Amino acid sequence: MTDSLLDRFLRYVRLDTQADDSSSTYPSTAKQLVLSQLLANECLELGLSEIVFDQFGIVTATIPAWGLSPGEIVPAIVWVAHVDTSPEYSSTNVNPQVHPNYQGQDLVLPGNPSLVLSPNQFPELLTCLGHTLITTDGTTLLGADDKSGIAAIMTAAARLISNPQKPHGPIRLCFTCDEEIGRGTAKLTLERLNAVCGYTLDGSGTGTVDCETFSADQATIRVVGINTHPSIGKGVMVNAIKILSEIITRLPARILSPETTDERQGFVHPYEIEGGVAEAHVKFILRDFETLALAEQAKLLQTIIDSVAADYPEAKIELSTRPQYRNMREGLGLEPRAIEFALRAIQTCGLTPQKSIIRGGTDGSLLTAMGLPCPNLSTGEHNPHSPLEWTSVEEMEQAANVLVELAYEWGQNGTEP
Ligand SMILES: [Zn+2]
Repeated sequence: MTDSLLDRFLRYVRLDTQADDSSSTYPSTAKQLVLSQLLANECLELGLSEIVFDQFGIVTATIPAWGLSPGEIVPAIVWVAHVDTSPEYSSTNVNPQVHPNYQGQDLVLPGNPSLVLSPNQFPELLTCLGHTLITTDGTTLLGADDKSGIAAIMTAAARLISNPQKPHGPIRLCFTCDEEIGRGTAKLTLERLNAVCGYTLDGSGTGTVDCETFSADQATIRVVGINTHPSIGKGVMVNAIKILSEIITRLPARILSPETTDERQGFVHPYEIEGGVAEAHVKFILRDFETLALAEQAKLLQTIIDSVAADYPEAKIELSTRPQYRNMREGLGLEPRAIEFALRAIQTCGLTPQKSIIRGGTDGSLLTAMGLPCPNLSTGEHNPHSPLEWTSVEEMEQAANVLVELAYEWGQNGTEP
């Protein structure tokens, strides 16, 4: 197969695989299955074994162990990427723009010339001088989150299976659905993955191993008012819109928000509001690197609710929360080689390895919580969930190189006693 990584990437991003938070099916959208099916077919063409494409759209396959001495056992590891894209921006008719030999200039997106990728605003562009960059045309997101990860995994798999250079253990590939809506591992079992650790290929830039994620809850505040015809509203109508607006106004404006925090600071972020006079609700995400802080954030919301509720005894105001994912820090301790070998593989590829934290979650946060340590590796993502999303072919190639070296690293140093 003479497929280049770029060929693969362009093929994957042209498929619309947007997830839908409001759907109760699995996967949330049937269109994700198109990419899952394509990947299952490509795994077959590559000659991978144990290919399973289940009814939920999840694809697993195995690169068999190679070159080990008789009796030598190297445990399996898993490479994970997700087929879906974020519901936050359209992924219909993605029209990827390829910019060879990038020289630091502003990139104007032709489908919406008011959108410009400029190094002034996005200095990371300057780390990719000379690279082939891929952007959107300005009308959709790109879907490098996480099709760059899929392209890197498929490229590394093709290389390991057709032209292995050193012994390696079994490598499992796992393509999930609905990661963007927090359901990436809902239909996965550790028995199916049967591995000592995993790696999500869902990280930004190059050379980084993410060893911590946020801990995350979702919260909803729901206000039930009383609607009447406005002509007879006096003394009867209770307007849920106004009550909810008051609650939102009382949120801290300058702290605890994505707009005002970075690094290890958490936030309480309202991201969706819907409703009318009779009923209105707002959805929040609660985020912090310390799981205990999430309860404090929920308490803050309850305090605001109580203060507003005192003025509107006729209204019903409810707060509900549900856990989404947890910081992977503790779970990664179960298998310290997961991070150690990844850092070494990155170094072998001539890159400067860096441990990092992500202000978000991955399938790896959920897998780690389930008991499979699963840090996150760089795969060239930049500005995800946005029409300003872009990636670099060279960074994706580096991700594929790191995966190959990671396989050899485990082959050489991961032998079971
Ligand atoms: Zn992702």
